[in-house]
Amino acid sequence: MAGLITRFAPSPTGPLHLGHAFSALTAYDLARSQNGQFLLRIEDIDTPRCRPAFEAQIYDDLHWLGLDWPLPVMRQSERRAAYASALAQLNALGVTYGCTCTRGDIRAALSAPQEGTAPTGPDGPIYPGTCRHQQRDPEGAAIRLNMARATALIGSVTFVETGPLHTGSHIYTPEWLTTHVGDVVLARRDIGTSYHLAVSVDDAAQDISLVVRGVDLFEATAIHTVLQRLLDLPTPEYHHHRLIRDTQGKRLAKRDAARALSLYRDDGLTPEALRESLAL
Ligand code: GLU
Repeated sequence: MAGLITRFAPSPTGPLHLGHAFSALTAYDLARSQNGQFLLRIEDIDTPRCRPAFEAQIYDDLHWLGLDWPLPVMRQSERRAAYASALAQLNALGVTYGCTCTRGDIRAALSAPQEGTAPTGPDGPIYPGTCRHQQRDPEGAAIRLNMARATALIGSVTFVETGPLHTGSHIYTPEWLTTHVGDVVLARRDIGTSYHLAVSVDDAAQDISLVVRGVDLFEATAIHTVLQRLLDLPTPEYHHHRLIRDTQGKRLAKRDAARALSLYRDDGLTPEALRESLAL
């Protein structure tokens, strides 16, 4: 079995841009440098926004970049049973509850004078806990994590960052997690899971030992380590890389930051020149 296993996990909700190329190439190069393996995972749980044409384009773009990966590719739309079983496991631990709040309800609760200034976590405003102590029929409800109960079971969580931006060990105490992350959604009503639950379950299922992704997801990693501990899954190492903002050869205006990779191909840019422009 390969030592180092990395992955690239795009969502087929639009064309890949230079930031995706940077992420995929970084994960691929890190795996290759250690004789490891690079895996691809299609994160298509947000079905209303995903398109088969974008998925096809992802394969095409990555092949053009010179990447290869083992088949079959894991697709989250085919993993609903795994997410349901993880949710059942969390439910059996007593760390979940149903929530029927709308975004408007949450906003209204947070603007109540006694709440003070609402802190913001990786998923936006920290949930004020309206449904936490009510017996909700889980039918038609979103499922949230009861962070206080979860951390009472597992204590502090930790992960190791090997990327250049936040290198070192990161430790999160129960108090920090309850205050700064709170009761995040584990399963949305419409898709029966969430990014956090799916990514935690899938990274373990694919034996990923180094998660490579953009630094915009650094804060979400605390949530993933909590879920790994609760579900008895291993915690991989993490490499959160810088975000690519300037593009077009050497320098490009910000407004073009999300220009599709395929347009560079059409312009005649080679994968080698693209690597160079990304300092890879
Ligand atoms: N699917 C996510 C995205 O397209 C990436 C998630 C991850 O790498 O953990 O941004």
